[in-house]
Amino acid sequence: MSLNIHAVLPRSRVNGPGTRLVIFFQGCASHCEGCFNLDTHSFEERELVTPEALLGKHLSTGIEGITVSGGEPFLQPAGLLRLLELAAASRLSTLVYTGYTIDEVLDDQEKARCLEYIDVLVDGPFDMKKLEPTLLARGSSNQKIHFLTSRYSLEDLYMPGKVEVIIGPDGDIRKTGFSSLGA
Ligand code: SF4
Repeated sequence: MSLNIHAVLPRSRVNGPGTRLVIFFQGCASHCEGCFNLDTHSFEERELVTPEALLGKHLSTGIEGITVSGGEPFLQPAGLLRLLELAAASRLSTLVYTGYTIDEVLDDQEKARCLEYIDVLVDGPFDMKKLEPTLLARGSSNQKIHFLTSRYSLEDLYMPGKVEVIIGPDGDIRKTGFSSLGA
């Protein structure tokens, strides 16, 4: 089983507690106005990779956990579940962003299974009218943080910054985190 991935950040400090592998899934049907990740909306094949290969490459880098964002991770529920199972088996923490509300996830048996392996879920679509630049780990006030295990609490989400600029080996520049736009 392969995941369709938009991009990976091997070591981010602004996408959850500690240093994290951030995985952006490709494909989202929500089209929230002001979305920070427009390039992730298309459902075209971008990069196909198995959860095993994806995690295996980063397991020895000293990361605290993985953050899954998008795109919409729950539109690839089988691959997401496998990725989360593997992360949990390696004692990596898991933080997942979704444009669905937690109730919408719970309504779908396949999606709901993923919740068993998620430490923190940030739910709900980005809403430009509820934009609040000072919010922790999210862009608009309708988005909620759900601590699904006891691993983290709110204070763990105070990160060293809100936006990270990463310059890749070939000179490409990527911005990640939370600015005045949605994520
Ligand atoms: S904010 Fe998230 S849910 Fe909304 S369009 Fe962008 S990627 Fe999709």
